Amino acid sequence: MVENKKRPSWDEYFLKVAMLVSERATCPRMHVGCVLVKDKQILATGYNGSIPGDAHCEDEGCIIVDNHCVRTNHAEINAITQCATHGVNTSGAKAYVTNMPCTTCSKALIAAGIKEIIVFSDYHDTLATEFFRKANVPIIKLPIPNGEIHYNLDNYSSAKKINFEDENK
Ligand SMILES: [Zn+2]
Ligand SMILES: [Zn+2]
Repeated sequence: MVENKKRPSWDEYFLKVAMLVSERATCPRMHVGCVLVKDKQILATGYNGSIPGDAHCEDEGCIIVDNHCVRTNHAEINAITQCATHGVNTSGAKAYVTNMPCTTCSKALIAAGIKEIIVFSDYHDTLATEFFRKANVPIIKLPIPNGEIHYNLDNYSSAKKINFEDENK
């Protein structure tokens, strides 16, 4: 019997992906995930983490300036730079982010042509709300989706389990 779990809406789906992406974050002070979406298509994902090749906060400690860790690029910046390095046009995309973007990220998102921000959590005082308002970028605040992933091989009659002991012989 297939369990009758509610199928997530598109907004829940992309927010849930953002939650999953945040699991890759490397700064213990904050875990953020960002998913850039256009026409229901994921363009790129990002989480807050160090410059590629550099040490991670969780290994070497944070670099604190004015009570903020500055070692990492934020999730939103990393999603935008993913697009920059792969030649993906972000203009007109939506940004699904686990947390309200900071001032710096709000400016980058606006400059990248992002037209809507969807979040389920706020951030401490920043100028982001004001910048988004001036740029006519709406901020949609939704409840946090159920974080569980419902996947049980036993539910699906077509699925055949892999016997890893045999595979590794
Ligand atoms: Zn850090
Ligand atoms: Zn930020």
